[in-house]
Parts: sequence; structure tokens; C-alpha cells
Amino acid sequence: FGKAKKSQRLCSLKFIDEAIITVSSGHGGSGCVSFRREKYIPRGGPDGGNGGNGGSIIFKTDPGKRTLHEFKTKRTFTAQNGAPGKGRQQTGKNGNDTIIALPPGTLIIDAETNQVIKDMVSAGTTFVFLKGGRGGKGNKHFTSSTYRSPKFAQPGEPGRTFKVKLELKLLAEVGIIGLPNAGKSTLLSVISAARPVISDYPFTTLSPNLGMVQVKDNEPFAVADIPGLIEGAHTGTGLGIRFLKHIERTLFLVHLIDASAIDETDPLSAYRTINTELAQYGKHLAEKPQVIVLNKMDLPEAAGRARRFIDAAGLSDCFKISAATKSGVDDLKMHLFTLLCQYHGQQPTSNLK
Ligand code: GDP
Ligand code: MG
Repeated sequence: FGKAKKSQRLCSLKFIDEAIITVSSGHGGSGCVSFRREKYIPRGGPDGGNGGNGGSIIFKTDPGKRTLHEFKTKRTFTAQNGAPGKGRQQTGKNGNDTIIALPPGTLIIDAETNQVIKDMVSAGTTFVFLKGGRGGKGNKHFTSSTYRSPKFAQPGEPGRTFKVKLELKLLAEVGIIGLPNAGKSTLLSVISAARPVISDYPFTTLSPNLGMVQVKDNEPFAVADIPGLIEGAHTGTGLGIRFLKHIERTLFLVHLIDASAIDETDPLSAYRTINTELAQYGKHLAEKPQVIVLNKMDLPEAAGRARRFIDAAGLSDCFKISAATKSGVDDLKMHLFTLLCQYHGQQPTSNLK
């Protein structure tokens, strides 16, 4: 029973990105009161046109989006009002819809009641959330055989305003792995701007951390710091197993190594220990691409050990950083971002340099 409960907990491990926005559909344009005025026809019939319909609020999934970060700054969305009707039976222009692009997987929730309104699961989903107000009828519409000259028209229907909460379960695209004390948490804290809420996790002191990493004003990406990855993790003895499970869904890994360490945590042993863990866990973790990073290069003993490690591990080179002094960290961040862009087949939206 204990086991089942644990795995249930595991499934409920959530990194959540959320935002609250206010959306308003457009008012309908009012109908027009007008009578035909033409030369030699002194008292023409009613010819007031209908108002245009207000624009709607439409949600759409966009596979190019992966976070809700843009809603942290833009929080209100308003569709255009319909234009009023005019004389000569001219209908007012319909207001433009406002289309809000969401990352696939976003939940649209009523901010007041917390009820889920819509699960925008897959790419290509379109959801008309708030229809714009209908345009009012012009006086022409109210003409009948008994009522020839209506001097009134209908007002446009008002638009509606609604407060919604957007919620997105975030997937870490990059995982930072390494022995305890390698500097994973420190690295995450210096490359990331924001920490999304982590809910439902019982081991708060050892919870994986998720940070949103942003390069310029490009779409940020989520990086997880996977703690407690130690020998034996794959057998489920440590907490590591839970975190290893989390790595399954990352696209690639940053393998962080303390370049200053000696003895059983010296860089080469550390590197091998972690790779053995990954291999024993299976699920192709060992084949996940790794960006190998030597940390703590600010310490005097690191340089020599780093060189020996690179030789012994048969690498041509690797990243050398100091999470503490931030030296080399920007280059690493840029490299991760470039790899992700390549993976998604996307161009960065703003210049990198
Ligand atoms: P984690 O267990 O991998 O998450 O490692 P932490 O981020 O908690 O760091 C472990 C220790 O190493 C802490 O005392 C950090 O201050 C220290 N540390 C992390 N990065 C560096 C670094 O670049 N240089 C030095 N000198 N110390 C670092
Ligand atoms: Mg840590």
C-alpha cells in the first residue's frame, strides 16, 4: 500500500506555470435610425442598417509555444467592438476577433470557481471562448405593414469579460545531473530567471528544482536540477529513482562535474558513477545527449584536474565554468539555447548577439 501511495505521489509531481488573464469580447455595434433622404422624396422610408457583431475571444494552441511566460506581462485581452450601423442600410463592420495562442497542454480555468473550462490538449485546437455581442438591428428591421416609420433601433449586445487562469504542466527540456555537491542547484540559480510553482511534492528539501532560462527575449525553456542522483538510485533505494524518472522526458542533459574534487568524487569517477546510474536505469537515459560541464573552475586545483579528466575521458573538450563566479555560464546558457532551437527546428526570435 505504501508503495502504491508513493507512486501516486510521484505521478502528481508537477511543475506548473500559471498566469491569470482578463479577456473581454467586443460589444455589438448599435443599430441605426435613419430615413431615406433623396431629392424629390421628402419622406423616405427607414433605412438604418444593423450594427456589426463584436469580436470574439478565441484560444488556439500553438506548438511553437512551450511556456506561459508572455502572460506575465500582458494580462488583458480585448476583442474589437462592432461598428454601428449606418443609413442606406449599411451594416456596421464586425469587430476583429482576438486570438490568443497557448502552448499545447494549457488548461483554461475559471479564476473565480477554479473549474476547468477547457483542456487545450493538442496542437491545432481552436476554442471560441467568449463570443462577441451581436450587433443591434437598425430601424429598417422593425418596419412592417402597420408600422412604417420606426424611430428606434436596437442597441448592440454588450461583450463579456471573464477572468481565466491558465495553467500549464511544464516539461523540463534540460536536466542537470551530477553527484551531490557538484553545484547543480547553484548553476540553476544563476542561469534561471524564475521558479515556477512545484506542487504536491512531499520531500521539499530534496525536490527537483525547475528554473526558467531565458536568452534575450526568446521563449524561455525549463531546466530541472535533479538532486540526489547517487549510486543505487536505479534500484529505488535513494530518492534518486524518482528523479531519474523525471529525466526520462528531458531532451538532453547537462552533466555537471566538480572539477576540484578528489578521491572517489574526482571528475572521472564522478562522471562514470553517474553514467553507470543512467545506464542501469535503462529507458535510454544513457543515450540522451549530454553537455559535459566542469564546474568550480575558480578553485586553484581545478585546472589541472580538468585537463586530466578531459584526456582520461577521451573528450576533445568540454565546458569549464564557475557557477560561483558565473564565469563561462553565459556561454553555456547560449549553447543550451542553440541546441534547443536546433532540436525544435526553430530560429531564435531575437538576435543572439
Ligand atoms: P548540488 O548538490 O549539486 O546541488 O550542489 P550545490 O549547488 O548545492 O553546491 C554545493 C556546494 O558547492 C555549495 O557550497 C556551493 O556554494 C559550492 N559551489 C557551487 N558551485 C561552485 C563554484 O563554481 N565554485 C565554488 N568554489 N564553489 C561552488
Ligand atoms: Mg542541490
